[in-house]
Amino acid sequence: MTAKIIDGKEVAKATRKALKQRIKALAERGIVPGLATVLVGEDPASVTYVGSKARACGKLKMYSEVIERPKTISQQELVDIVEGLNGNDKIHGILVQSPLPKHMDETAVTLTIRPDKDVDGFHPHNVGLMLMGRPGLLPCTPNGIMKLLQAYEIDPSGKEVVVVGRSNIVGKPVAALLVQKAPGANATVTIAHSRTANLANVTLRADILIAAIGRPHTITGDMIREGAVVIDVGVNRVDDPEAERGYRLVGDVDFAAASEIASFITPVPGGVGPMTIAMLMHNTVTAAEKIHGVA
Ligand code: NDP
Repeated sequence: MTAKIIDGKEVAKATRKALKQRIKALAERGIVPGLATVLVGEDPASVTYVGSKARACGKLKMYSEVIERPKTISQQELVDIVEGLNGNDKIHGILVQSPLPKHMDETAVTLTIRPDKDVDGFHPHNVGLMLMGRPGLLPCTPNGIMKLLQAYEIDPSGKEVVVVGRSNIVGKPVAALLVQKAPGANATVTIAHSRTANLANVTLRADILIAAIGRPHTITGDMIREGAVVIDVGVNRVDDPEAERGYRLVGDVDFAAASEIASFITPVPGGVGPMTIAMLMHNTVTAAEKIHGVA
């Protein structure tokens, strides 16, 4: 079997197209959705992500502000920045780029973000709403995965889904979305992690296998059931002297082997990544609509 590619760039493009209508409707009321991104330090991947998010805002004629601070700033200084943004009428979405320097408590910072401006969907208020299946701001990567499945008419209802990874930003929330009693969900979900005994035994049960591990090629061909849908969330830099930048990006799945076994597969790059940014734009527009009572 040669797997069909789930093209995240195309689905992200369609998502942006739909957003343009909503942004236009807001503009007619004099509202421009605004996203503030706070970058602490100079982690190269974070610098790239923050740049991509600002460019995405620009393309959609949304307002964006990038606030950069050295890694030496105190937690209180960061909290003060977030509180300023909470009260800033031009800003509807606030994102504090992770990872933060070690001396900071990420959870404490997240707690200071106004839940209706929490476009990452990480505030416990939004996490709680998500678990309860109530409307709120959903985390971008997990929601992006749900949209990819929908776009390719892959219905998780009644299917065995295995999520490898239990982080608060990908693994746990995507499992929570898939298990909801709701259209596009209703899956039977297993979460695996580094302590899972015999990982292959678990992954081989999956009709839909989601890898959010952060280690290149952890999922090999023999861990995938024939005809499974494979969603590769991982973004790993591996050295490549032939590449212009000296590295290339690979996922958590052995793409070449998996493509021979799976029915559908997301590439890295070009799969989940573009959807994460598209869902961030979606959340910022949704937040602007809610804050201004438009939706
Ligand atoms: P974390 O490091 O927070 O979590 C990784 C998870 O994988 C943990 O639960 C860990 O288990 C588990 N794990 C690690 N090694 C193994 C193993 N050998 N077997 C089974 N499970 C294992 O990562 P994130 O969830 O933040 O991110 C995962 C990947 O997704 C990264 O590559 C990240 O860059 C990428 N990512 C991509 C995004 C995108 O837009 N495409 C967005 C967000 C993340 P344990 O809990 O036991 O330690």
